[in-house]
Amino acid sequence: MYDLGYSRPATLAKALELLQQDDLAQLVSGGQTLMPVLRARLAAPSQLVDIARLDDLRQICTIGAGIEIGAGMTHAEVAASPVVRAHLPALAALAGGIGDAQIRHRGTIGGSIANNDPAACYPSAVLALGARVQTNLRMLDAEAFFAGMFATALEPGEIVTAVHFPACAVACYLKFRNPASRFALVGVFAARLASDEHRIAIIGGGNGVFRWHEAERHLDRGAGVDGLDTVPLDLANFTGDIHGSADYRRHVAKVITRRALTQMA
Ligand SMILES: Cc1cc2nc3c(=O)[nH]c(=O)nc-3n(C[C@H](O)[C@H](O)[C@H](O)COP(=O)(O)OP(=O)(O)OC[C@H]3O[C@@H](n4cnc5c(N)ncnc54)[C@H](O)[C@@H]3O)c2cc1C
Repeated sequence: MYDLGYSRPATLAKALELLQQDDLAQLVSGGQTLMPVLRARLAAPSQLVDIARLDDLRQICTIGAGIEIGAGMTHAEVAASPVVRAHLPALAALAGGIGDAQIRHRGTIGGSIANNDPAACYPSAVLALGARVQTNLRMLDAEAFFAGMFATALEPGEIVTAVHFPACAVACYLKFRNPASRFALVGVFAARLASDEHRIAIIGGGNGVFRWHEAERHLDRGAGVDGLDTVPLDLANFTGDIHGSADYRRHVAKVITRRALTQMA
């Protein structure tokens, strides 16, 4: 590590002020992504502005038929929340399957979607469910928020404050884990929305979360899960690395999509 400042403001307004005063300041929430990045000297902020305990970011509540989750809620809190378990059990299960106990007790939903790691679990749920991301400045649809690998629509100094998930009829998240890191080699969030439309969002492809539109149309036509094998899934959405080739990842995505839809049925 190297010398850097650290502050834990008591309010969101103070956190924003600190970011505005210093272009090189960086937010830290759970630190489960940022701290390894700093240790590897892949980033060099002048100071960390710690928002993990801000009351403004720490609520889970219902809004109409949907739910709102504050950006500072940890994965363990989302997994254990009676509200999330009752309204979106697939999201609670997703949060409960992230990393290990330490990661789940520190890492936050806001940090996860702001970071938008192509293998992170939450972006698949946010995109599949058509959730909206609330920041200190605006409300963004999931489609507008995610902008490819490690990229989002967030402007410098903009803070994710909450995520709004609409109600859905039924959903299931499955991931094929890397046994060492527990990150997904590929993960699929499948959902049938309240409108009866199907949504399939895939992570782990390497280029960032994306929807499998052809499979959604296939299912919306009433075609069966078995016929999914013949539905095209563009190889350009996948890249290869030491853990698996692009072709292998695409194959796994098809297999676990089928499994997720079978569990939903
Ligand atoms: C060994 C290991 C295994 C893991 N396994 C998984 C897994 O299986 N699935 C999975 O999804 N994730 C996994 N993760 C990642 C983990 O979930 C992180 O907690 C998460 O990606 C980042 O959340 P954080 O709160 O720790 O963010 P931080 O590390 O604090 O911040 C990450 C980035 O987001 C920014 N940021 C933080 N909060 C906000 C905000 N509210 N608004 C705007 N910007 C913000 C920070 O400035 C930083 O750039 C794993 C991590 C490790 C180390």
